[in-house]
Amino acid sequence: MNATSPLIYWFRQDLRLADNAGLSAAIATGRPVICLYIHDTTAGLRPWGAASLWWLHHSLTALNASLGGKLVLRKGPALEVLKAVLKETGAEGVMWGRCYEPYAIARDTAIKTQLQADGFVAESHNTALLFEPWQLKTKTNGTPFQVFTPFWKACLASEAPPLPLPAPKDFTPLSAKSENLADWGFLPTNPDWAGGMREAWTPGEAGARQRLIDFIEGPINGYKERRNNPGEQFTSRLSPHLHWGEISPRQIWRVVKVAEEAGKVKHESDSAHFLSELGWREFSNHLLYHFPTLPSVPLNKRFIAFPWNEKPGELKAWQRGMTGYPIVDAGMRELWQTGWMHNRVRMIVGSFLVKDLLIPWQQGEAWFWDTLVDANLANNTASWQWIAGCGADAAPYFRVFNPMLQGEKFDGDGAYIRRYVPELASLPDKYIHRPWEAPADVLRKAGVELGRTYPQPMVDHHTARDHALAAFAALKESGAA
Ligand code: FAD
Repeated sequence: MNATSPLIYWFRQDLRLADNAGLSAAIATGRPVICLYIHDTTAGLRPWGAASLWWLHHSLTALNASLGGKLVLRKGPALEVLKAVLKETGAEGVMWGRCYEPYAIARDTAIKTQLQADGFVAESHNTALLFEPWQLKTKTNGTPFQVFTPFWKACLASEAPPLPLPAPKDFTPLSAKSENLADWGFLPTNPDWAGGMREAWTPGEAGARQRLIDFIEGPINGYKERRNNPGEQFTSRLSPHLHWGEISPRQIWRVVKVAEEAGKVKHESDSAHFLSELGWREFSNHLLYHFPTLPSVPLNKRFIAFPWNEKPGELKAWQRGMTGYPIVDAGMRELWQTGWMHNRVRMIVGSFLVKDLLIPWQQGEAWFWDTLVDANLANNTASWQWIAGCGADAAPYFRVFNPMLQGEKFDGDGAYIRRYVPELASLPDKYIHRPWEAPADVLRKAGVELGRTYPQPMVDHHTARDHALAAFAALKESGAA
């Protein structure tokens, strides 16, 4: 082995320099480091959705800038690309941060085995989670957790996550032959639908850091009470940054603890609640790791026989935010415009798809996958199973969200609806969540003509709820439940 031969650091979903245990380990060897990103075409991977690709383009641009323009970009099946770059550069091995999607685990295991067999270094590090998914097991029988509260208690009782690592100082990566990011076609061209995303987000490590600072300086105080109100900004909006690893949960954890110690957090219930949401992220990854069929198969097997309806027209109306239920439509349009949707509204639109329309949760999951900038296999599929009532620690099937009551409770003055469903903006608060109950003169005054300027409700919620409950009861009687 040549002491001056380089190492490759393979960036994946850890697109940052600070608190990157893998990158720091590579630099600590004292060898020159080649920073590589692979647009991976290995068979069996789930391709990124369109919104994810938009984000990825900008995140790679930011990472490249912080590496002095030396990020090496290559496209192809990861193992083939790694072998080629190892050969071209005489590098002695590859290091990377772990991913937990079942297909990523299969790919990485195969790569590690092959490279080590060929005499190369192949080393992975935890760059994405507070706790490894295999670290925590139930006390009773050592099985994986399936209920959040004991899982999170076990996390909190474990050794605190290590302190985040600083960004490497005076680090200049080694150059190598690179492709051109623009040639990968990650950005939409005709039509360019990304205007709302450009306005809403700053992908990259600096954007992530700023988002965290803004949250700690303001909304964290009030998070517990107001996080459910989609018309206000009381959540961190860190989800896409976390998904792409532009910031680590350990960094967030540390910043929150420091803010608590400095007295910047007035009520610890706010910060504790916020950290528990990071706990849901950990829990989703724990579930995905231990139940790799989570993305497609109900965890609760009795739901496999559920009599779903395939209704392409209704699915389309839901996707386009044209259901006639204002809070549902506002959510779906927020998603389309900005690539993100408020968590409370994700639950409302999810319940509407699965329970009011009886459309399989997998179709909602697929739409979210394509349109969310934070589309994340663990969080998305665990959440959809939760909504459908077939997942771990799920909402019971009979809990059907009432879109009018949810809207009235969490968006009382309709600020959120007025923002995303402008054709209803002039309706008084009393009717903004149920325009079909407004008298004709109120509708006229507000410029609303149901069925023309805004749809009539596509189903009657109360009838639809009864159908859903009957379908579930039939499943039970058939012995499947
Ligand atoms: P905050 O409230 O500020 O929370 C901080 C962080 O905790 C988030 O950034 C996120 O990483 C994590 N988090 C918060 N809530 C959850 C949760 N319920 N489950 C897992 N992690 C959570 N989140 C994704 O990151 N990607 C997805 O693809 C995704 N799909 C979802 C689909 C449905 C049907 C539902 C109901 C929820 C989904 N979520 C998903 C979870 C949640 O809605 C988002 O993480 C949250 O809205 C992000 O906003 P925030 O960063 O302001 O959250």
